[in-house]
Amino acid sequence: MGNRLDSPVCTRGEVILRQEPYVCVPNNSSTVSRCDGCFASESLKKCSACQVVWYCGSTCQKSEWKLHRLECVALSRLEKEKRKAVTPSIRLMVRLYLRRKLQNEMFIPASVTDSCNFVGALVSHLKDLDEKQLVLYAQMANLVHFILQWPEINLKEIAENFSKLACNAHTICDCELRPLGTGLYPVVSIINHSCLPNAVLIFEGKSSVVRAVEHIPEGAEVTIAYIDTAGSTITRQKTLKEQYFFTCTCPRCIKVGQYNDIQESAILEGYRCKDDRCNGFLLRDSEDKGFICQTCGLLRSKEEVKRIVSEITAISDKELKSTSPGSILFNGHIDHEEAFSLYKMTEKLQMELYHPFSISLMRTREELLKILMEIGDWREALAYCRLTIPGYQRVYPELHPLLGLQYYTCGKIEWLLGYTEDAIKSLTRAIDILRITHGTNSPFMKELMMKLDEAHAEASYNLSSKDE
Ligand SMILES: [Zn+2]
Ligand SMILES: [Zn+2]
Ligand SMILES: [Zn+2]
Ligand SMILES: [Zn+2]
Repeated sequence: MGNRLDSPVCTRGEVILRQEPYVCVPNNSSTVSRCDGCFASESLKKCSACQVVWYCGSTCQKSEWKLHRLECVALSRLEKEKRKAVTPSIRLMVRLYLRRKLQNEMFIPASVTDSCNFVGALVSHLKDLDEKQLVLYAQMANLVHFILQWPEINLKEIAENFSKLACNAHTICDCELRPLGTGLYPVVSIINHSCLPNAVLIFEGKSSVVRAVEHIPEGAEVTIAYIDTAGSTITRQKTLKEQYFFTCTCPRCIKVGQYNDIQESAILEGYRCKDDRCNGFLLRDSEDKGFICQTCGLLRSKEEVKRIVSEITAISDKELKSTSPGSILFNGHIDHEEAFSLYKMTEKLQMELYHPFSISLMRTREELLKILMEIGDWREALAYCRLTIPGYQRVYPELHPLLGLQYYTCGKIEWLLGYTEDAIKSLTRAIDILRITHGTNSPFMKELMMKLDEAHAEASYNLSSKDE
């Protein structure tokens, strides 16, 4: 965030920028470990010296050694208990300092982007932070200082760098947008946000790739989305303000308060009409008795809304417990049933309370879809996947990777169930989007295109055997 990136002329799907991370770390925790080199999560071995970092094999270990050599020495000095406090954020900061040191000593050649000291130039938001966050950054800075043991760096600067990373580092995701790690990418970090961006940031392994999702004329500003853009304008603006400290003035956000924007918010985040057959949206009535349907005029009382909301909250508290590490969801297949029934109850209440296009309802159905796929109930999974599609079409632009991925999931399940014709339709829709956002060269896209070829082959075989 800061400055801006102007584009050369770009067509849809063209790569605007490809960049390796300046520093990065996998999001390891007590339950998930990934290789420092390639983020793989299988057949890992711990670095025998520091016992903190994991590798999938000697190739990754060797490729990471230049930087880890210094990090390893620093981490190995720590007592065992203290090493547990070395979270991914702490490691990212330690590595940032080590990388700079190596560069100054010329072990890593300074590329053009490094030479302008881009970390120094990044915007920090220390003055916007509340007391609690400042205390947390101070504690983290202390630990980094303790690990590095360099007398020349001061705590204030480390804390400031933490606030810079919070706004400028990127979550590294796999092709299906599941988070794997965090990285700092000098040029990507100057790309500004829009809720209707003209480009998308995707990762191929650890390299960041920014692709145009529409025609960008020469000299126009390149924008990506920092947040999930599914929410109402007020929700998006609140999230951006809290996490990135700015007020968005993108083409979607300047419509705040206009009738269409109010209507869209009421559909995405508001309540449904008391009459089941009515699809109207509700707005708060002027006498504050409740919410009035803008189509048929029926009133939904505040009390009724409050009652259902509190029932949903009570269940989601249980959900939280059941899906956190070490809880029932992680202890075997029976626990899926428990989680499933909690989400199912939530869905029922949300259908009673919210508009059919409600984002909360869509999110609950995504959770149900995940559980159903995990337990292999493909028929039900397909029903839920199909239920989410109209919501995705509504909240995301035509060329959004999440919409493409949802079509892909749909197509995979249809293929598994033997619905070849449906699978062809869904996989084709997925490819139409993902070839633009992901390019066509990654193993992920090759697999998707192969699936479509197989489905086509199967369909023509079915046709020819019907002819006989
Ligand atoms: Zn690896
Ligand atoms: Zn080590
Ligand atoms: Zn915006
Ligand atoms: Zn109505």
